Amino acid sequence: MARFIFITGGVVSSLGKGLASAALGALLQARGYSVRLRKLDPYLNVNPGTMSPFEHGEVFVTDDGAETDLDLGHYERFTGVAARRSDSISAGRIYSNVLEKERRGAYLGKTIQVIPHVTDEIKEFIRIGADEVDFMLCEIGGTVGDIEGLPFLEAIRQFSQEQPRGQCMFMHLTLLPYIKASGELKTKPTQHSVKELRSIGLAPDILVCRSEQTIPAKEREKLALFCNVRPDAVIAAHDLKSIYEAPLAYHREGLDQAVLDAFRITPAPRPQLDRWRDVAERVEHPEGTVRIAIVGKYVQLEDAYKSIAEALIHGGMANRVRVQIEWVEAELFEREDPAAHLSGFHAILVPGGFGERGTEGKIKAAQFARERKLPYLGISLGMQMAVLEAARNVAGLPTAGSEEFIRESGNTRIEAVIHRSAQGAADDPCGDAAEGSGEFAEAIRLGECEAVLAAGSKVAEIYGTERISERHRHRYEVNTAYRERLEQAGLRFSGMSADDQLPVAVEWADHPWFIGVQFHPELKSKPFAPHPLFTDFVRAAIAASRLV
Ligand code: GLN
Repeated sequence: MARFIFITGGVVSSLGKGLASAALGALLQARGYSVRLRKLDPYLNVNPGTMSPFEHGEVFVTDDGAETDLDLGHYERFTGVAARRSDSISAGRIYSNVLEKERRGAYLGKTIQVIPHVTDEIKEFIRIGADEVDFMLCEIGGTVGDIEGLPFLEAIRQFSQEQPRGQCMFMHLTLLPYIKASGELKTKPTQHSVKELRSIGLAPDILVCRSEQTIPAKEREKLALFCNVRPDAVIAAHDLKSIYEAPLAYHREGLDQAVLDAFRITPAPRPQLDRWRDVAERVEHPEGTVRIAIVGKYVQLEDAYKSIAEALIHGGMANRVRVQIEWVEAELFEREDPAAHLSGFHAILVPGGFGERGTEGKIKAAQFARERKLPYLGISLGMQMAVLEAARNVAGLPTAGSEEFIRESGNTRIEAVIHRSAQGAADDPCGDAAEGSGEFAEAIRLGECEAVLAAGSKVAEIYGTERISERHRHRYEVNTAYRERLEQAGLRFSGMSADDQLPVAVEWADHPWFIGVQFHPELKSKPFAPHPLFTDFVRAAIAASRLV
């Protein structure tokens, strides 16, 4: 049975709880342990897939087709452990399970209550697959004091009582604000936050304190005394230039040692940190810079494209350059010449997205990249827009469009070059039905699917193999009825689903680097194992930067 580490947050949100959890996972791996990370979110949405990227950031998709919180992306990037559906749960899902059971009569007419029924459901979730790993890290979303978080805190309290002694540990992340006028780091908010935790029966073993300044010995002792933790279990978390320095920084502060101490693991296995030293070295000492534009719709909130930004950074690390990402609002190009905004970039990436807004701008961006021979990577919607651009401007189909937009605009006078395929989401062996109601209750191709790349194509060369497996999240597909016409125009269909029915990659044969992929390669990239498409895309950007 695993040892359990529960991670909570206090004082304010956005302290980097997900990152701290992920870094701790990486450090435990470095000590030779197997880990799994899990996120318990107190919000009432049943499925994060239907939450607005503006509000909630990217939806991270797992191999087994779950739409989850973006923290699962951090977990995967730091540990390399593929997240599963059972690694993410929301209060909405928990309640929905409980109510569904009640409707089925599973509770035999008993009164249904938060304790024990909701808390039991949460505990059951925490236990899934616990015998497969040495450590299970469970991050509780939100901040201590949130009303909707209470059942989760109560559940982990009960859980720790039900485990053998010494199987569970609590880590609490807080903020030490710095008051400039008095030149002091303040411990009171942390004291209050811990007090709040203790009032619900949870006593943290480790405090991770975000602070702009080093924590003086006096404050450390005060925190230890008032919060009832050992002084060496007060861990400082300072701002870092790159998140990839976090494992080494936390190790220097003694986080992994404090965890092993809390579990009384002696002697502590020696850490193997070479992987993270190499990663940090590459981040800290780039040998050049490339500028890449991400032309998208959700550019006000960079978290909406979190995994793409990280994958680009990984590609930069592989090539020893810094990738300077700039966010460009796609809608701009509907009014203004893309050249005014895109000249000077070394490559263009058009990410995934839903809905019509901004799509004409994305088509313009694809056209600009094709004509100027700038490297272009189109992901999901970004591939679909590249295909529409090819259809309209090269293959002589000026009314080429996507069925997705017909639904919005009612304009049926288009050629549906992007359409809902009969072989698509509905009965795809690796697809999954979306949940929800109304317009969301539609099939969507979700999760890992196998594909075959054409021999001699650029993508096959980049991957170094012709059989790949990547994660999808989309409803529409490139319509193969137009394949011949598009191929005659020079757009090669270089990847197809394993059953040869659905296009998954396209490329311009006569372009130095123009690739569209229907899947989301960014979800699988890691700092220590950059995704080949991103590595090669950045390499192409470097080549383009030499020409400018
Ligand atoms: N909106 C498009 C579709 O549903 C693309 C989705 C995406 O970019 N992930 O097919």
